[in-house]
Amino acid sequence: MSTLDNVLKEINKADNIVLLAHENPDGDAIGSCLAMGLALKKQNKNVEIVMPKYPRAFSNLPGTELIKKEGSTKKYDLAIALDCATVKLLNGWTNYFEDAKSKIVIDHHSTNAMFGDLNYVDYSAPACAQVLYTMFMYYKWEVTQDIGTDLMTGIITDTGGFQYSGTSKETFEIAARLLSVGVNIPKIYKQVFSTCTRSSYELKKLALDRLEFLEDNKVTFTYITKKDEEKVNAETGDYEGIVNEGKNIEGVEVSIFIHEIDNGMKVSLRSNDYVNVSNICLMFGGGGHPKAAGVTMQGKVEDIKEMILREVKRALK
Ligand code: 5GP
Ligand code: MN
Repeated sequence: MSTLDNVLKEINKADNIVLLAHENPDGDAIGSCLAMGLALKKQNKNVEIVMPKYPRAFSNLPGTELIKKEGSTKKYDLAIALDCATVKLLNGWTNYFEDAKSKIVIDHHSTNAMFGDLNYVDYSAPACAQVLYTMFMYYKWEVTQDIGTDLMTGIITDTGGFQYSGTSKETFEIAARLLSVGVNIPKIYKQVFSTCTRSSYELKKLALDRLEFLEDNKVTFTYITKKDEEKVNAETGDYEGIVNEGKNIEGVEVSIFIHEIDNGMKVSLRSNDYVNVSNICLMFGGGGHPKAAGVTMQGKVEDIKEMILREVKRALK
């Protein structure tokens, strides 16, 4: 029996299922949870997605009524972690995972710690949502327009709109099939990339104002503090995309972005061609993908910047 068959067996056994994703959820984390939630509903399961905060840009996606700030029970029959590399990244809601009778991990991070009883991790997929699409096809579960919209949101977010290296022929084939069930790709595209609120604009402006070019213009660095967020009345997720501003400048190989979060400093790294930023984040206890990775660290912005920069310099050589 394949892992997918075993996962289905666990799903069939369970009545109450909780879906969880990584802290500071992005479009892939949210889209994957919503698509899985709607698919499980169609299998007549009681499903809750525990996700205390998520960016407003995603609030119109199908299935958001399944999202709860807290779970309605302490012990679910089954917990499924989606788009999440380690149990620690489940953050404040780790207990829903650990206390569940059965635990499943579905993901696409090469640094996944395989922390479930069953782990279905496909490193080659550019988004967790793409892993789910393959799964639903294998199970012969119908992918409706709503489910497809959530999956496409995940794929568009994590591939940067079909531009990053994990984007494959399969990704475009899935996009074509989702188009044929009525998924509005241009609308999702606009939602993910072109909708900018006043506060996210102001936050980006601050970050760009203090952006530094280092190492012969091969590295950019910038940061955002809680104080900055207060100043512009920032909402959840307003910092999304800032790290790409540096990465998109011609000649830049690595973009470093630090932003203050409740439990420390979140470092986001992006690279263009040859630096494996996932390896750098792993050194500090984080992880991610070769060209997009992150880690939470403790300390002052300046000190963290120096620590990261030292490793980036080494990798540039
Ligand atoms: P971001 O910079 O957008 O927060 O994250 C980029 C990628 O790195 C995402 O795939 C994310 O899941 C992963 N990532 C971010 N922070 C961490 C972390 O602290 N630990 C691990 N293992 N992965 C992380
Ligand atoms: Mn993802």
